[in-house]
This record gives sequence, structure tokens and C-alpha cells, in this order.
Amino acid sequence: MVRRVHEKNGHKFVATVLRQPTFCSHCKGFIWGIGKQGYQCQDCTCVVHKRCHESVITNCRSSTDATTNEAPDVGSSPHQLSVHTYMKPTFCNHCGTLLYGLIKQGMHCGGCNMNVHKRCQKNVANNCGVNPAVSNAN
Ligand SMILES: [Zn+2]
Ligand SMILES: [Zn+2]
Ligand SMILES: [Zn+2]
Ligand SMILES: [Zn+2]
Repeated sequence: MVRRVHEKNGHKFVATVLRQPTFCSHCKGFIWGIGKQGYQCQDCTCVVHKRCHESVITNCRSSTDATTNEAPDVGSSPHQLSVHTYMKPTFCNHCGTLLYGLIKQGMHCGGCNMNVHKRCQKNVANNCGVNPAVSNAN
């Protein structure tokens, strides 16, 4: 099977079939349907809608150390992540899937209110406060 890679801001999106409820890391909308509904980055594992991948504004974390032509450091600021216990079902703002467990399910950013898996924090770009879709989601 040939996997077509769609590159955007350093992300390498490949159409993927999602096996669990997933939210788009761009528009925060639910990704659901039959077939290849989502595009997942092969580097940082974030998932977006097929229709959203062209509008992604975040840089892939790998682009900060691998690429050359753009200036990813301009305006970037690291997230202020700390381990957090969620009282209601919460989804990872990075890979879009549920933060599982009963306590200490994930990491919460005090700067932009982003929530991510512990396993995802290393994949999140230093874009605290940059993504308007996150800061408006309240
Ligand atoms: Zn990526
Ligand atoms: Zn979307
Ligand atoms: Zn995640
Ligand atoms: Zn943040």
C-alpha cells in the first residue's frame, strides 16, 4: 500500500483509520466516520481532519531541530506543563485521544490550558498561547 505523505509546517501527515474516538488537534472537532477520516503526523503523532491538515498553524516538533528554511523559534514559548488529575473525560489536545486512567491522567498547561498525555508532551511544539483554537476553547 502506497502511503501518500502530505507535508505541512514540518508535519508529515498520512491518512489513517482511527480506532478510537479522536479529536482534531487543529479545530478541536470530533473526527469520526468510516474509512480514512484522519491525517496523522508520522513524526509527532498529532491527528487532524483531512480537511484541516492544510490549515494547521503549529509547527511539527521535528521541524524545530531538523529544518532550515523557516524560523520556528520566532514567538515560540514552552508550555508550562504539570501533572494533572481530571474530574471529567478529557481528550489530549495533541493526539486527540482520551486521557485514560482515574488520576494523573495527563499534563495540563497553566499557560494555554492545553491538556496532553504524558507520552505526548515531548511531541508538542513550543507554541504555548499560539494556537487560538486552544485558547478559545472555554
Ligand atoms: Zn508533526
Ligand atoms: Zn479539524
Ligand atoms: Zn496524546
Ligand atoms: Zn501552553
